[in-house]
Amino acid sequence: MDLYEYQGKELFRRFGIPTSEGRLATTPAEARAAAEELGGQVVVKAQVLTGGRGKAGGVKLAGGPDDAEQKAEEILGLDIRGHVVRKLWIESASEIAKEYYLSVTFDRGVKQSLFMLTKEGGVEIEEVAANTAEALARLHVDPLEGYQPYQARRLIYGAGIDDPNEQKQLLGIIEQLYRCYVESDAMLCEINPLIVTPEGEIRALDSKFTVDDNALYRHGDVAAMRDLEAYPPEERAAREKGVTYVKLDGEVGILGNGAGLVMSTLDVIALAGGSPANFCDLGGGGDAQGVVDALEVITADPQVRSILFNIFGGITRGDEVARGILQALEQLTIEQPIVVRLDGTNAEEGRAILAEAAPANLHTEATMLDAARRAVELAA
Ligand code: GDP
Ligand code: MN
Repeated sequence: MDLYEYQGKELFRRFGIPTSEGRLATTPAEARAAAEELGGQVVVKAQVLTGGRGKAGGVKLAGGPDDAEQKAEEILGLDIRGHVVRKLWIESASEIAKEYYLSVTFDRGVKQSLFMLTKEGGVEIEEVAANTAEALARLHVDPLEGYQPYQARRLIYGAGIDDPNEQKQLLGIIEQLYRCYVESDAMLCEINPLIVTPEGEIRALDSKFTVDDNALYRHGDVAAMRDLEAYPPEERAAREKGVTYVKLDGEVGILGNGAGLVMSTLDVIALAGGSPANFCDLGGGGDAQGVVDALEVITADPQVRSILFNIFGGITRGDEVARGILQALEQLTIEQPIVVRLDGTNAEEGRAILAEAAPANLHTEATMLDAARRAVELAA
């Protein structure tokens, strides 16, 4: 789950990482009131779950309340790469002497956390990595060993930061960021830019924060930060039902068991000349309620013209899934044709059950490619 900048900064503050004071606003009038409370120059910042807001005109300095109201008017409603701005973060403006970059993320390849620090902040980190890789200090932290202060020192020297006052502050911030990252069960904590003010004070001016979805159950306060309006309505409904679903652009609704199988089903649909309407993983179970929930979510998308069930029986047996599908079809009225491909454990029994019941609009195929071709044909 991605957090908005203002939410990430709230977590930063809890762990002692310095940030600027700010207020949330959803209207120009609220932006004006926020600027009045904060006093002086402010920054009006679009809160959207995507980066590069500055370049897209979503971050603007304002001289005072009047100007903040004006800038809020300009930014609210702006479309930043498909994300419409509905919320603003109004923050006391900082004077910037230097822009650094600091992040900690999970490096799956090495199975360790990875810190990155560079003096070349402010720009996209991919640019730094591509153009001036030597300026980017990288350091892994062994999760069993945990964080040690010498690691922060190595990172700071590696990035070529030689001002003792900056080094001292960074030592603290790196340690706090690691605690924030571990204790929040984060996948990414990125500060870009991490600024140095003309007075030599270091502060987080931005935040990019991703929390592991699977750990949200133990962070009720973070889970409550989820902004349901930022997701397509189908995905919202899916989340409420506990269905693993991602909306896509095509017309063939997809349901499979296992994320890997569903991913390859999307490919096979493309191979058959069609385009998938969604990703939907039934998971390990094939019980009727799971199938009903998934079908309800899939068919709520008006673009869906046909549905492909791709089931590989492993622990879930093919006959169980077949019964689940039949029960689901009794409970629901589905207008779109459904193609079922059953393979693996008890697939023959499953296919026999479907053939015997022979519901109208249900087609069975033995292979994935044939099933995909059929589903694409029926969607045409
Ligand atoms: P992003 O473009 O989505 O990464 O948004 P940022 O929060 O990083 O802001 C973009 C840029 O706006 C930063 O790199 C800064 O150069 C500038 N900016 C943001 N806040 C301030 C501020 O308080 N004072 C000044 N002078 N510039 C700021
Ligand atoms: Mn940024």
